[in-house]
Formats: sequence, C-alpha cells, structure tokens
Amino acid sequence: MRIDALTIFPQYFEPLTLSLVGKARDGGIIDFYIHDLRSFASNNHHSVDDTPYGGGAGMVMLAQVWGLALDPLMVEDTDLIILTPAGKRFDQRMAEAFSKASHLVFACGRYEGIDDRVRQYYSSDLYASRNIRVHEVSIGDYVLGGGEVASLVMIEAITRLLPGVVGNPESLSEESHSQDGYLEYPNFTKPAIWRDIAVPAILLSGNHSEIAQWRADAARRRAEENLWTRG
Ligand code: SAM
Repeated sequence: MRIDALTIFPQYFEPLTLSLVGKARDGGIIDFYIHDLRSFASNNHHSVDDTPYGGGAGMVMLAQVWGLALDPLMVEDTDLIILTPAGKRFDQRMAEAFSKASHLVFACGRYEGIDDRVRQYYSSDLYASRNIRVHEVSIGDYVLGGGEVASLVMIEAITRLLPGVVGNPESLSEESHSQDGYLEYPNFTKPAIWRDIAVPAILLSGNHSEIAQWRADAARRRAEENLWTRG
C-alpha cells in the first residue's frame, strides 16, 4: 500500500517510523510519502491560506496550492481522504474498507479548513472515471487544530489490518469492534495475584471450553455496560 500525506507540519508524521507501522514501512509493506504543502506555495511568503469569501473569522486554505500538491498524486485507483470534523465518522468498518485500497492520500487541513472547490474538483466525473474517490472523514465529534493527528489515527487503524503487520492475525478477528457492538473481554497476565486482586480462577484452570465461555460472557457484559456509559 502507498500512503501520501499533505501537511504544513511534516514533523507530525515522525511517529510513523515507530512500532508496528515503522516495521511495516521497513519491511516494504507500506510506502509513506509526506509532502510539505508550503513547498507548493508560489508567493514570496509561502502562504497557504487567505481570508474567507463572505467574511468571518479565520483563514481558508488556498485551492491553488492544494491543486498543485494533489495533481501529481491523483493516479488511477486512488482514495483521497480530506480530514474534516464535518466528514463521515471513522470507524473499524471504514478502516477495513481502506485497508483494501492500494493508494491513500491524506489531505490535512489547518485554519478553517480547505477551500471546498478542492473536494468538488477531484470528485468530478473525470476523476471518477480514473477510479479516484474522494472521502471527507472525521475521527470524532470534536474539533482538532489540524488533520495531522486525525490522519495518524486513521493510518494506524488501517495499516495494522494489512497482512504481515500484526504478528498474530487471529488477534485481529477477536478484538473490540471486529464485529459491530463487540468489545473484547478483560485480559490478565502474571502474577496471578497483584495487590490482593486475583485473576478470575477459571483462567488458571486450563479448561479451554470454560475459559471460552467465561470470555464470551465477560465480553457480552462489557458491551452491555458500555451501552450505558457510551450512550
Ligand atoms: N472550520 C472547521 C469546521 O468548523 O468544520 C474546523 C477546522 S479545524 C480547526 C482545522 C482542520 O483540522 C480541519 O480542516 C481538519 O483537517 C482538521 N480536523 C479538525 N477536527 C477534525 C476531526 N474531528 N476529524 C478530522 N479532522 C479534523
């Protein structure tokens, strides 16, 4: 999978060298390209934003700068992801769908966001005929200062689903959100007693069918309790 991210803060993406994602990158499973949006700004001050038409607070990111940065990346079979709190809510099902993509491009907004004509332009029939799809995506109902952290969240959730990234693929099929509404049972490791709190005895019994039943019950209880706390 190839991933491009466009940002005015390329340093935000340094964590992509770490942990599982970093290893997947070293192993050639993922190719990352981080682009500094300012290098596409043609004016002397390298500005990437201007005041909004219609007035109002804040600045809007310039369509012409985004166009110059995006044009060379819009190759056949690309998913362009525009991060915005007004987008469709990211979840595990969306992560699974994007994990099957061959090329993801993350457009990280700042200020009041990106001139909407960028979305309109790359959503045209011409780009659709080249299998280029545009998605406006939000990672939750709150407002961040920029799309970089949102992109990192998505990249981590998507890339750990790629074959070869997580050591034991079975752990992916049994974890929270692997099915709608499913939350994983609580986990324990050694020692069997820690600060007077004992691990549930059944987990030490070696009886695999009873352990499976205990885990299924605990997972169901957790999901029911979370219905209340998550609303
Ligand atoms: N004016 C925008 C609005 O009210 O919808 C908010 C702009 S926000 C301050 C700046 C940038 O941060 C956005 O363009 C987007 O790229 C990113 N961003 C903020 N919150 C986000 C969220 N919940 N999900 C994804 N991206 C977000």
